[in-house]
Amino acid sequence: MISLSRKSLILTFLGLFSLILAGTALAQVKEAPTRDQIEDKYKWNLSDYYPSDEAWEASLKILEQQIPQMGTYQGKLGDSPATLAEALKMNDSLGSLAHRLYVYASLNLDEDNRVGKYQEMKGRIFQMYTRLGEAASYLEPEILKIPNEKLEAFLKENAALGVYRFYISDMIRRKAHIMNEETENLLSMAGSVTSGPSNIFTMLDDADIKFPNVKDDDGNEVELTDGRYSQLLQSTNREVRKAASDAYNDTYLKYQNGLAACLASSVNGDVFYTGARKYNTRLERALDGDNIPTVVYNNLIEVASSNLAPLHKYVAMRKKYMALDTLYPYDMYVPLVPEARRKIPYEEGKKIVLDALKPLGNDYIKSLNVAFDSRWIDVYETQAKGSGAYSWGTYSAHPVVLLNYSDELGDVFTLGHELGHAMHRYYTTLNEPYIYAGHSIFAAEVASTCNETIIIDYLLKKAKTREEKLYLLNYHIEQIMGTFYSQVYFSEFEQKIHDVVENGGALSAESLRQMYREIYQKYFGPDYVIPPDRDLGGLRISHFYRMFYVYQYATSYAASQVLADRIIKGDKKATEAYLEFIKTGSSDYPVNVLKKAGIDMTTPQPYENVIAIFSRLVNEMEKLLLES
Ligand SMILES: [Zn+2]
Repeated sequence: MISLSRKSLILTFLGLFSLILAGTALAQVKEAPTRDQIEDKYKWNLSDYYPSDEAWEASLKILEQQIPQMGTYQGKLGDSPATLAEALKMNDSLGSLAHRLYVYASLNLDEDNRVGKYQEMKGRIFQMYTRLGEAASYLEPEILKIPNEKLEAFLKENAALGVYRFYISDMIRRKAHIMNEETENLLSMAGSVTSGPSNIFTMLDDADIKFPNVKDDDGNEVELTDGRYSQLLQSTNREVRKAASDAYNDTYLKYQNGLAACLASSVNGDVFYTGARKYNTRLERALDGDNIPTVVYNNLIEVASSNLAPLHKYVAMRKKYMALDTLYPYDMYVPLVPEARRKIPYEEGKKIVLDALKPLGNDYIKSLNVAFDSRWIDVYETQAKGSGAYSWGTYSAHPVVLLNYSDELGDVFTLGHELGHAMHRYYTTLNEPYIYAGHSIFAAEVASTCNETIIIDYLLKKAKTREEKLYLLNYHIEQIMGTFYSQVYFSEFEQKIHDVVENGGALSAESLRQMYREIYQKYFGPDYVIPPDRDLGGLRISHFYRMFYVYQYATSYAASQVLADRIIKGDKKATEAYLEFIKTGSSDYPVNVLKKAGIDMTTPQPYENVIAIFSRLVNEMEKLLLES
């Protein structure tokens, strides 16, 4: 997930995940500078990846020549531990090379998306990637055919194979859900049918559904788009907000039966695979990839849904502060406090980040300084540059960060967030072999949101004006609403619709809306009035096509809040454990990795902690608002 600016928080809150970047792009109307107008020190240095495009071409040629060698091990993996180790090593080294090539082309293209040369280079390496995937596709099925005892003997016998112990044991763990060849063939053939609902939804949502024109803040008629919708909902003119909300929802309403049929068919597909792969429940199947116990999911929902009082209080406070008789969903996004007006130039933002993150220790700060001084960061917006913000990288080179820094306070949080990802990647790469250098979603957002929380706390302690304090409190509150509460109520809705189907029921537009409305109302409480036909979230949120996925935003956020709190309080042992956490990739299951960092995600405690923080923030904000 890219970092959460206020706008993207709102989009997340609305369930418009995929549109965060598009929304940001829409906001950029002024002509951006060209890249040569930006000082080198504010641009990333991609020559650390390849010194030139010619060097990239030469490297691509090597990859192309080496891919066929993958095939030489086919049918021989069970021959000896040495052969198995060689095959896995070759797969890793080709994978690492392909990734470096891919990242270089993509990053260059993101500097200026109009450059045909990099579009074409990205296309070529993408094709090569596919070829590599095909050439290595026999690995897993063939390893799984080797009897467990033989694999165990291989692992004992050959030291070079030792690094693959977790990788192989995880494969064995999943073996019970991998069927015989005939069934696997049938399941893979069914894929083109079962992916239908999601494809149809995407085509409807992205291509066919068009919103009407609405009036913007200046009274101009503009075409409603997803990006513009989030902007209009922030308008202080209630008529503008209402008109945007009506236009948006009434459009979806016209398609409600088709959208409901899509989602119902998607759930039927999930039921089909769950049975075919011999899982007891769909939840079990969805969580099995990362070996997450279902108790994690159930605790999250149980704790959040039975502790809604602070959220209700926030809604009531908003209603009172806005002096409304009735608060509707379209009143939820108007900024309660003006953005803290002070501009924060990049150099100052950098100082804040370096100073705030000092509790993470000298080595962490030293690495941050390397990132700043060695040009890992592309700071400013330039013409046709990739929008939003992200951190990326590859195993054999340092990570990079793309920003569109515009001197707002929110940009400082984005900087801290993306550097959190970058440091996570950097330390993991230094400490893990290639095969375990990745992070699951469950763990990935911990390091980034932990940094943001440490920075919020630092700034709050330094805040001089009431406005600044309010802005920071509100930022944290909205972050918890978008990253925690919203994701939990989406998760609860998912669980409910799957339960209906599992118990032999059917899903219709009416039943989906009814279930959505009940949960939506329960979360936001008695002061939140959902008008008729404004309960369509369940029909239009694309993440529901990826079952039991969004809960991970809430769990990783919860983990980061516990960690940040301990780090802020100067808990040395906890800080050490956190620094170990960011050195760890996927060499163990994420729940175990977090346990080593001192958080047991299978207990209610991390979720109770988020609610306690939210409650405290709402109380502090209420106090400050009353002071006016
Ligand atoms: Zn992130």
